Order: sequence, then structure tokens, then C-alpha cells
Amino acid sequence: MSGTFTVINPATAQPIREIARAGADEVDAAIAAAVVAQRGWASSAPLTRADALRRFARVVEEHVEELAQLEVLNSGHPIGSARWEASHVAQVLNFYAGAPERLSGQQIPVAGGLDVTFHEPYGVVGIIVPWNFPMTIASWGFAPALAAGNAVVLKPAELTPLTAIRLGELALEAGLPEGLFSVVTGSGSVVGQRFVSHPDVRKVVFTGSTEVGVSVAAGCAQALKPVTLELGGKSANIVFEDADLERAASAAPGAVFDNAGQDCCARSRILVQRSVYDRFLELLEPAVRGFAVGDPTLEGTQMGPLISASHRSTVAGFVDGANVAFRGSAPDGDGFWFAPTVVLAERGDRIAREEVFGPVVAVLPFDDEADAVALANDTIYGLAGSIWTENLGRAVRVSRAVKSGVLSVNSHSSVRYWTPFGGMKASGLGRELGPDAAEHFTETKNVFFATDD
Ligand code: NAP
Ligand code: MG
Repeated sequence: MSGTFTVINPATAQPIREIARAGADEVDAAIAAAVVAQRGWASSAPLTRADALRRFARVVEEHVEELAQLEVLNSGHPIGSARWEASHVAQVLNFYAGAPERLSGQQIPVAGGLDVTFHEPYGVVGIIVPWNFPMTIASWGFAPALAAGNAVVLKPAELTPLTAIRLGELALEAGLPEGLFSVVTGSGSVVGQRFVSHPDVRKVVFTGSTEVGVSVAAGCAQALKPVTLELGGKSANIVFEDADLERAASAAPGAVFDNAGQDCCARSRILVQRSVYDRFLELLEPAVRGFAVGDPTLEGTQMGPLISASHRSTVAGFVDGANVAFRGSAPDGDGFWFAPTVVLAERGDRIAREEVFGPVVAVLPFDDEADAVALANDTIYGLAGSIWTENLGRAVRVSRAVKSGVLSVNSHSSVRYWTPFGGMKASGLGRELGPDAAEHFTETKNVFFATDD
């Protein structure tokens, strides 16, 4: 081990626990154990793997409250959100527990024999996750990867390792084979890099910043490894003059301030048609002021603190000199608090272009439908977005024209485990979740059996 690191409670700034920082040798040992475990796992009956994943799901279900409390402590997520996240992990496991028996290949007509395809697992999959949604994002990788017959090594972010460590223990409690699913704690530059460079890790899933994602992809290219990337976002919430303005305004704070804006899908740009711009801001103000920011252990809390002191200074840097329209509230005290902030922005402003990853939203006016689409697409990112209109034709046209992977009309939903999720442009590569995710953890093998004598 290369020493330890201290995990901090972001709501109090108090230390929680020391965690081991793995060195390259420990990572290699986890990968070697995964190689052995994967052979047995892949050769076990589909029903055996399905049952094992269902047991894992049940054990997670039985520990929802414990996992949720751990996430409140480590990440400052409001308890209601943390319970949703822990239950979501169990649901993702249940959903992909159906995959081992459904990973059917094809039979293709070829003269003189029988041609069939197999979905072969890669072997060991390395999953690198960020600190913003530690357990849910991890499950989007490990559940379908395991279902497809792979072993998994998982690296949580150093800021938020606690729920991932617990999930690793629960997997063993549920009876998953030793070494099949290992959680390796340590830094990105050591543990994450080793997943990229180690020849026995045959696929990498990375969620995090676009900058690190590009370097992970470059390393995977050197080793000819497939990589899935879920990266940043600057998603647009587009409000047309024919929208139900009351609904659009009351839903807008949740779409950007949920998880204190530390959400890759945050609708951090609100684009409002000029004819209703003033009216929309009038409706938005009470919704923002009413957003309940505070102690994440309390049931009614909607937003907790930012993850760290240094992240809070980064977020504050975006607001310096900006044209702040109004703000919500935040507690005083030692946590990394930051009040929800609404900024009136101009096209080209830094706040209108760069990902803040905090509770700050930029509001910009647009003139007509073509202008709304151009403005929505005026970003390097393309992850999520919302369109508010009562005009069906417009909803269809705009949702086809916005270059984002996950869009929602008259709502802000992004994540359902049974529908695909992922970004276009600088927001990522590949898709997670949905009906096809387990197949993405396999490569196709074609076998031709000659039948002619
Ligand atoms: P980050 O700095 O890119 O880190 C993400 C993960 O990569 C962490 O586990 C980190 O480890 C590790 N890492 C750092 N350097 C690495 C390297 N050279 N090689 C391999 N791994 C390395 O991102 P973050 O600051 O944690 O998260 C915030 C970003 O993630 C935002 O930009 C956000 O938009 C994005 N995000 C995207 C999605 C999505 O689904 N599209 C979801 C969530 C977050 P350590 O930090 O422990 O060193
Ligand atoms: Mg980082």
C-alpha cells in the first residue's frame, strides 16, 4: 500500500475515515485475481450467473438504508436522494440479472454448414468513476459487465470511496466469487492509469471530466482497448413562448440544483424565448428561493453542500463578476455550502459555455426556433437537455435537431436504467444502461461449422 488518504464529510468539513491508497502492485494483484475468477464465472451456466446477480440485488436492497446513510456522510447527498440512489443500484442489478439468459447470438445462412455468432465477454473490465454519483454510476458499469460474463475492477474517486467499498463487501456477502468484483481505492494517476495500461484489462469504462477522459481514451488507443466515456455537459433547458411557463419555471431549479449542480446532466443553461423572458424570470425567482438547501440528513432537504473546499472555490470563480439576478439560500457553518445562483448571461460568456458543476445556472434569451436550436448546440458538449413547448411538431423538430444523447420534453428526466444513456460530442463515447448495455461488454465471435463431407 502507498499510505492512506482521509475521507471528509462535505457537510461538516470533518474527517470520517482513513482509506488505503493502493499502489501498482495491489492493482496488479486485483487484476490477476479477476482473471482467474472470470474464467469460472464465464463458464458457469447463464442461470447461475443470473441467480448470483439477483442475490447481489437482494443484499443491496437489504442494505439500502445503510448505503444511503454512508452516501449522506461521504457525499452530502440529501437522504431522500441517497435512498433513491441505493435502491437504483439494486434495480440495475435486477435488470441486468435478466441478461445472461438473453445474450443470444445469431444463426446466419451460409451454404455448406452452420454459421453462428457468440457474445464473448472481454475478460476483465476496468471501471473508473467520479465523485458526484459514486454508487449509481459504478452500478451502470459493473452490473451489465458482470452479467455479460466479465470480471470487474472498480476504482472509486478518492473523495467518495465509501459506498463502493461497501458494495464490494456486499457482493461477497451475496456469494459472488472472490476476485470477480474488486474495489481498488487510490488515485486516478496510479489505479486508474493501471487499468488503462494493464494488458489483462480488456475494456475500460470511464466517467469523469472531458480532460481526463481524453487522456484515458488515448491510453486505451495505444493498447487497442475499447473504452466507454461518460464526460461533462452544459445542457440546455429550452423554454418556448408556447410552454406551460408555470410548470417549466417550477421544474427548472431541480433540473440544475439537484446534487448541488454536480450532475453531468444538469440543465445549467436556461434558454428562454425573448417574448416570455421577463415573465419566466418572475416565476423562476420564488422557485429558486424556495429550494431547500441544508443539512443532508434531514428528510425535507433538496440540496446539500459541494463536495470539497477546492471545488467550492472553482464554482465561486465562475460567479465572480457575473450578472447575478437572484440567489437562493445556504447555511453558514463549516460545510462546503454554496447558494443556488441564477446568472443573466450573454452568448460567449464563460458561464454560458463552460461546465460549472455547481448550483449556478445561466439564463439566456433567444428569438425563434432556429435561434433556440443554434444556441442549444453552441457548446462542445451534448449530453442532456429539455424542451418545454405545447406544440407537438416543434417538440419533435427540436428534439431531433439538438445534438445531445438524452433529451426530455416537458420534463427533466435523464436516467432510467432501462433506457440508453450517454453523450454526443465532448460529452462521451458509447452508451450505458438500456436494453443493450450487457452486449456492449461483449465482442462478437463468428463460428462456421462445415457440414459437408
Ligand atoms: P475526474 O477528475 O475526471 O475524475 C474521474 C475519475 O477518474 C476519478 O476516479 C479520478 O480519480 C480518476 N482519474 C483522475 N485522473 C486519472 C488518470 N490520469 N487516469 C485514470 N483515471 C484518472 O472527474 P471528477 O472531478 O471526479 O468528476 C467531475 C466530472 O465528471 C465533471 O466534468 C462531470 O461532468 C463528469 N461526469 C460525467 C458523467 C457522465 O455520465 N457523463 C457523470 C458524472 C460526472 P481520483 O479523483 O480519485 O484521483
Ligand atoms: Mg478530478
